[in-house]
Amino acid sequence: MNGLEQLAIRAGQELEDSPAPEILRWAADTFGSRFCVTSSMADAVVAHLASRALPGVDVVFLDTGYHFPETIGTRDAVAAVMDVRVITLTPRQSVAEQDAAYGSQLHDRDPDLCCALRKVRPLEEGLARYDAWATGLRRDESPTRAHTPVVGWDARRGKVKIAPIARWTQQDVDAYVTEHGVLVNPLLMDGYASIGCAPCTRRTTAGEDARAGRWAGRGKTECGLHG
Ligand code: SF4
Repeated sequence: MNGLEQLAIRAGQELEDSPAPEILRWAADTFGSRFCVTSSMADAVVAHLASRALPGVDVVFLDTGYHFPETIGTRDAVAAVMDVRVITLTPRQSVAEQDAAYGSQLHDRDPDLCCALRKVRPLEEGLARYDAWATGLRRDESPTRAHTPVVGWDARRGKVKIAPIARWTQQDVDAYVTEHGVLVNPLLMDGYASIGCAPCTRRTTAGEDARAGRWAGRGKTECGLHG
């Protein structure tokens, strides 16, 4: 176990019961500019929290080329009004180039490969300059996220992974958004509980968990970013 991994495991234990701002303050103090937030632009809650701990913090957004226009609009609004630096990562190939190489609609035929090309690889390359990254993962989103640590070790990338709102509920998120006037993607008011690429996202219905609308009917629940 290397020093960074030891640090992550210890912080995960010590900060388990700490409020999100305290977790992010620890991250800012420990990693400084080697720390970033990733955001899907469903909402800007973690970016907002992080900007208070580390003004001008890097907010990394993956532009897969398949996003809803509302998601791109949310990213642009976040960049315009928040004290953050939005960094947009793009895949090596445009959608047209990928279609030429693999055939069109790869997301329907092989979503794991499509996510690997358009999400996993660009994020891996984009995170290379950081030691720690924060996400908006929450334990109540789905069974696959139920054991998310507030600070853990991302063994695949050799980085500290921080989930400052892991213990939050949807009600906590809604309350924070209201209290601080945080930007949210308008699709959240249009029946989408979780927002990803347009071809792989549908609205959810009452009683479904938040991520039920992602890759619905395809036996896939995660894009591979958080495996
Ligand atoms: Fe491709 Fe769908 Fe994954 Fe987006 S979510 S990268 S469109 S498979």
